Amino acid sequence: MADKCVFLDRDRTIIEDPGYLTDPDAVKLLPGVELALRSLGQAGFKLVVVTNQSAIARGLLTEDGLEQIHDEMRRQLSERGVELDAIYYCPYHPDGTVEEYTRVSADSKPSPGMLLRASKDLRIDLTASWMVGDSPRDIEAGQRAGCRTVRVRLKGDGGPEQDEDVQADFTVRNLIDAARVILRESGASPAAGKAFESPAAISAGAGRFGEKPEMPIDSMTDSQVLHEILRHVRQNLTPGGGSEFSAMRLIGAIFQIFALAALTWGLINIPGAATCNETYATWHVALMTAGVLQLAALTFFILSRRR
Ligand SMILES: [Mg+2]
Repeated sequence: MADKCVFLDRDRTIIEDPGYLTDPDAVKLLPGVELALRSLGQAGFKLVVVTNQSAIARGLLTEDGLEQIHDEMRRQLSERGVELDAIYYCPYHPDGTVEEYTRVSADSKPSPGMLLRASKDLRIDLTASWMVGDSPRDIEAGQRAGCRTVRVRLKGDGGPEQDEDVQADFTVRNLIDAARVILRESGASPAAGKAFESPAAISAGAGRFGEKPEMPIDSMTDSQVLHEILRHVRQNLTPGGGSEFSAMRLIGAIFQIFALAALTWGLINIPGAATCNETYATWHVALMTAGVLQLAALTFFILSRRR
C-alpha cells in the first residue's frame, strides 16, 4: 500500500530565506518547524522537500554546495528529532548562466515533476498527500500532482509573489498551523498532534487563530520543552532574528520594570520587630503595587503573543 506524504517547499517554509542561500552556516530553521514536522511524521506522513534551486543555473552555487546546505538542514532537523525521507531539487532555469543547467525543466515548480518522481521512488499515494509552501508555484505544483495544498503566509509580509488565480485549499500563518490543518483534515490520531499544546508550540506560534487546541498534551520531555522555549526566546532577542517590533511587548516591558521597582521598594521596607505602622503600610502598598503592575505586564505580554 502506498504511503501518504507531505511535500514541503524549503525556503520560507522550513528555513529562512536570505535571498539565494549559498552558505551552510546561514541555514536557520523557522520557529516551530521541528514541532510541525515531528507531528506529521508521527501521524505516518512521509516528509519530502521539493525545492527549486535556480541559484545553480545562475552560477551562484554548485550541486556540491547545495548538498552541504541540505546536510546542514538535515543535521539541524535530526538534532530536533525530525528525519526527512528525501530532498528533491531542481537546478535548472531557462535564464541560467551555466549552460549545463540552462533549460526548462518539468521538475521546476509550478510543474509537478519532483512530486511525480517522488511518488514513484517512494511509493507515495498523491491523492492522500499534501503540498505545503509559501509561493503560488508550490500550490500549483501540488494541485497538478493531485495533492491537497496548504499555503504558508508568514506574518509580516505578503509572500514572495501574488497570484490570486492560484488558490490553496487552506492558507495559514506558519508550518505549525499547516500541520494542524493536515492532521485534522486527514483524521490523524490525536497522539500525532500532542506536541501542539506544549508551551513550546504555543511560543512558536501554534493556534493563533483563536482555535481551541484539539489534541491532548504530553509528547515532549521537559528538556525538549525547555530547549524549544530557549531557542525561541533567543531568536526573539537576536537582532534580525525574525521578531518584529510590538507596542504591546514594549508596554509590557515598561510595566515589568515598574513592577520590579515596586518589589524592590517593598523589599527595602520589610517590617522588622520594631516597625512602626507607617512602615507596615508602605510595605503593603509596595507589594500590592508590584502585584498589580506584574499582572498588567503579563496581560500585555499575552496580548502581544496573540496579535
Ligand atoms: Mg519558498
